[in-house]
Amino acid sequence: MLIYESKLEGTKNQYERLDNAIRTGLFVRNSIIRAWMDGLIKSRNDAYKYCKVLASKSECPWARLLNSQARQAHAERAWASIERFYRNCASKIKGKKGFPKFKKQLVRASAEYKVSGWKLSVDRRYLEFTDGFKAGSFKLWGTRDLHYYQLDQIKRVRVVRRHDGYYAQFLIDHKREENKELIGRQVGLDVGLNHFYTDSFGEKIDNPRFLRKDERKIKRLQRRLSKTQKHSINRVKARNKLGRAHLKVSRRRNDWVCKLAQRVIQSNDLVAVENLKVRNMIKNHCLAKSISDVAWYRFREWLEYFGVVYGVPVITVNPSYTSQNCSNCGEIVVKTLSTRTHKCPHCGYIADRDENAALNILKLALKELVNTVGRTELEVSGEIPLCFDAQTQPSKGTRRKRKT
Ligand SMILES: [Zn+2]
Repeated sequence: MLIYESKLEGTKNQYERLDNAIRTGLFVRNSIIRAWMDGLIKSRNDAYKYCKVLASKSECPWARLLNSQARQAHAERAWASIERFYRNCASKIKGKKGFPKFKKQLVRASAEYKVSGWKLSVDRRYLEFTDGFKAGSFKLWGTRDLHYYQLDQIKRVRVVRRHDGYYAQFLIDHKREENKELIGRQVGLDVGLNHFYTDSFGEKIDNPRFLRKDERKIKRLQRRLSKTQKHSINRVKARNKLGRAHLKVSRRRNDWVCKLAQRVIQSNDLVAVENLKVRNMIKNHCLAKSISDVAWYRFREWLEYFGVVYGVPVITVNPSYTSQNCSNCGEIVVKTLSTRTHKCPHCGYIADRDENAALNILKLALKELVNTVGRTELEVSGEIPLCFDAQTQPSKGTRRKRKT
């Protein structure tokens, strides 16, 4: 599955109609969760059926304005979160099980259409929404050409609302495969605080300098937001500014991380990384750390994506003890965070601390490879998906205002 993204350009009135569609999608999702909690829905099929019930109810006349398949798409989303909760309960994971929550109205939200409810113009530069909200046609702004694909390859169209505007995401059913020659090199990567990663050859990649700079900017905007009065216009403005700054950071980061991941995959036959727990990352309140954590998480997603594209296995291993064990003899060598070099008293092996960890990660991965079949399925997740626009610099073409 590929995801292409274009910005939607329309009038204020059209955007309001998109807002209504997004709100209705949210309403369908939350209604399904409610009905599930009340015991009215017990399966995915029930959820589909409930969409029809919603559309015929007189209390919510707006529900039937949303395209019927779009209603189903939102029912699927709701059911996915219910299913995840069931799965977590069944597998008895520790801590919270992720009981489905009602979603709030936020700036960042989306509506999802399947194969109907929208139409591309013949030249594929305009997207028209044809459901009851009558949002009309929008000009598409983006770097990618949709001409390359057949219309029936577009399985979904998502309208995504962000702080800086409205976007259309096209989910295209296309399997990307690239040819890659064998290099005879396998690599293990260890994430660190001081460097973005250290590989098992001892090479270090530094954190990009813009992360620091962006961090300062976000801190400043956050302070400004907290000083504004609640429910004031200035607060809305400040929130928008902060939202835009966050978007800029995440786009920059995603771009950097994507290119780095592609390079790593292209120059290795096997890549081993540690499996960081997302849950621990979210608990983190230190801004600099959380920014680099997200960067690392995105990096890993891109590694897995390019791994599938180039046919390079990307193996994740449990990170415990990778820094403590000696990669040469396997004995445990206890060291604190401040000890930067690994000196083994058992075999005399001396190496950089992170390099030793990276070697351990590679070794663990090779062991794991023997035991299991590598994962081939790529899961696309997160708010900023693995989007192809991130792979190229957005062209800064001349943006003319659309004549109305
Ligand atoms: Zn040793």
